[in-house]
Amino acid sequence: MAIKTARLLKRLREDFQLSIITLMGLFGVLGISPYAVYRLLHGNYLVGIADTIIVLSTLFAVFYAWRTRDTVKPGIYLATVFSIGSTLIAINLGVNGLFWIYPLILFNFFMVTPRKALLATALVLACLVAHALLVPGSVFDSHYQMVSFLVTGMMASVLSFIFAVRTRTQRDQLQLLAIHDPLTGARNRRAMNEELKIAMSSHRRHSDSFGLLVMDLDHFKQINDRFGHHIGDQVLVAFVELVKRCSRKEDRLFRFGGEEFLLLLPNTELDGLHAAAQHLLKRVESELESPGGPVTVSIGGAILRSGEHWESWLQRADECLYQAKSGGRNRVVIDRNEPAPQGTAAHHAADRRR
Ligand code: GH3
Ligand code: MG
Ligand code: MG
Repeated sequence: MAIKTARLLKRLREDFQLSIITLMGLFGVLGISPYAVYRLLHGNYLVGIADTIIVLSTLFAVFYAWRTRDTVKPGIYLATVFSIGSTLIAINLGVNGLFWIYPLILFNFFMVTPRKALLATALVLACLVAHALLVPGSVFDSHYQMVSFLVTGMMASVLSFIFAVRTRTQRDQLQLLAIHDPLTGARNRRAMNEELKIAMSSHRRHSDSFGLLVMDLDHFKQINDRFGHHIGDQVLVAFVELVKRCSRKEDRLFRFGGEEFLLLLPNTELDGLHAAAQHLLKRVESELESPGGPVTVSIGGAILRSGEHWESWLQRADECLYQAKSGGRNRVVIDRNEPAPQGTAAHHAADRRR
């Protein structure tokens, strides 16, 4: 029981949308249900039924979000139901119902994208004003009141819109920073671990073929020592730009360590991997420069074997890189060995890490 509660709390902490939808569930049941009962008991059936629909929809959306982990559809659904419900309530109750429009505006911006929320809010305001103009005295007590409501409602919407857009931009920037290396713009090691795991499970499920290249610049320390760290940095940036230019759109480049990079190539077989590595090697040799002359790279590579753990795959590519270095640098070594037969020590070692 305690474990289950801890797991539920963890999901709430990690999924902001889910926690907002759940909070609305609580508000719906505790806050709106008494109104629904009160209206129905006093014969105000239209508002009573609107309240009841809002409560039931909220509960349904909360249940759906918890069940499916999809918070987008319940968000759109709730924003729609709450907008229609609040409009009906305001039309029916007049000024007393208008107070609900302000929390509705905030709610919509929490539930859906800023553009959708702005559109929903504009529609609600437009419906209320249109109804008031068609049926004078129905929603507002005076024109002055209508204009005040319209201006304050629009101000609340525009400010919420700006706030929501800013929050989204900051969130996107944070996500970008979290998975990219600030110097070169290549993806970082954290992203690399995730992508290698995804490649491993995609290979298991769909037998997709993946190649991996580990690349290490040759004698890079000398560049730093002779020309300074900032020139070394420029070479690293130029290397990443060059690799990006030479590789396919679907290939993923990661900065693995200081001057060590990793290229993940989806849909690549052994020959393709070798050709890609040779092409990179030649382009680096002819195009990458430091003030001391051309800069070269050594490359090790391996194809993901079936059932193999990503760490063992990376280790095989890394061993090939080591061979390329000890073989004289500025060369490619791809692992062409067949996997060791079942039951060998190597296989067991890979299995234990799984
Ligand atoms: P090898 O051919 O064997 O790879 O020799 P190497 O000199 O490239 O390798 P070594 O591992 O001896 O040196 C790597 C150097 O990379 C040492 C370190 O100062 C430098 N380095 C690591 N990260 C950065 C960085 O972000 N910027 C710069 N400028 N240098 C870095
Ligand atoms: Mg090096
Ligand atoms: Mg190195």
